[in-house]
Amino acid sequence: MSLLDTYTVYFLTFLGNIVMFLLLVIFAKTTSFKGLIQHYIYGKLLQTIGAALGLFRGIVPIDFSIIVGNSAVFIGVALEVYCIVHVDRAPLKNVTKRWIQVVAAITLAFTLLYLAGVSMGFRVFFSAMVLGLYSLTAAIGLFFHNGATKLRKILAFFFVILAIYQIIRALDGFLIGESYTLFTASLLQTISFISIYVHMLISTMAYLLMTREVIDIKLKEAATKDYLTGIYNRMYFLQLSEKLFSLMIHQQKPATIFMIDFDYFKVINDTYGHIVGDKVLAHFSRETQSIIGIENILGRYGGEEFIIFAPNTSAEDALILGQKLQANLALPFANDTTIPKYTVSIGTATMVPAALTEMDNLIKQADEALLQAKKNGRNQIVQAKSVCK
Ligand code: GH3
Ligand code: MG
Ligand code: MG
Repeated sequence: MSLLDTYTVYFLTFLGNIVMFLLLVIFAKTTSFKGLIQHYIYGKLLQTIGAALGLFRGIVPIDFSIIVGNSAVFIGVALEVYCIVHVDRAPLKNVTKRWIQVVAAITLAFTLLYLAGVSMGFRVFFSAMVLGLYSLTAAIGLFFHNGATKLRKILAFFFVILAIYQIIRALDGFLIGESYTLFTASLLQTISFISIYVHMLISTMAYLLMTREVIDIKLKEAATKDYLTGIYNRMYFLQLSEKLFSLMIHQQKPATIFMIDFDYFKVINDTYGHIVGDKVLAHFSRETQSIIGIENILGRYGGEEFIIFAPNTSAEDALILGQKLQANLALPFANDTTIPKYTVSIGTATMVPAALTEMDNLIKQADEALLQAKKNGRNQIVQAKSVCK
């Protein structure tokens, strides 16, 4: 029994591939996203060719349709999965080499099997297993990717379902064997053809959704992070800190602001040049971030001035943390010998904020303490005395 005419499903897959191909070309031409989108489009084009050769089998010589059509699909889908897995990171050279080797082996194996005269059912079994393997690769690549987003995990789940469908299709081919023909009307085959159609829809939509997500993440980075140092910019630092400051009001816990300014930074620039000056700022940001951890917020306040919001940090804790930062800078920079020695002055202010206290108040006091550290001779910590509540 068949619910749908498989020829129609096959035709729709062909048509869908053409439409997706055109949409992707338009997308590639109009988006700022570059990535591997060109490869993805080539993959789609190959699949369209593969679907067309399957559809016009008979009009096109059968051997040509089967060998070239299947090869186009094997390579096309592999390209697609390769782009999906590497949507936000450049693939490593040896990884790409391995992909090429595997896909070449699959294509060659299929061609040899066909030339050796295996049954159509076995060919379906082989190609469905390959597509299932590709889907599983996509699922694993998306799910276990470092920092996989919620979207990627959901898409990974979809790819697992696609893999299961392909395995069903493989079994169908395997069980029917000799008597299998491409447009045999059977319920199982209808389901398996629909799975190809759904695969076409899901993989392209998944790729587009992921590129959208990559663009969003990059835009957010650009809006919230400082380009040179990679830490939060002033605006976003203040947003995050205000939230934590309110929490400290609610919990009645101490909050500390550190204002940090490089000592004689003009001299560093004048002696070593601005590029080294920039490297020094990035070095400081990296070192400081690793010392203060994720519970404290670091931001670039402006120029060579940095700011830390430390929630739940008393004046004593603040002094210890500030000393740790300065002591670290006094050690030799084992990781980067191109960075000249430098020192910073630090002003801190701590308070257990009352209901209507503004964070600006705390920043102002830390700034005054910093000024005092400069006046006292630099490379030291001064803590604001009048800690208001
Ligand atoms: P002081 O100890 O009194 O702070 O002396 P200073 O030389 O550090 O004085 P100040 O803080 O006024 O100097 C700021 C200098 O930092 C001036 C500016 O050229 C430099 N600067 C600000 N932003 C950058 C940057 O992004 N890259 C580089 N290379 N230099 C910067
Ligand atoms: Mg300075
Ligand atoms: Mg300054």
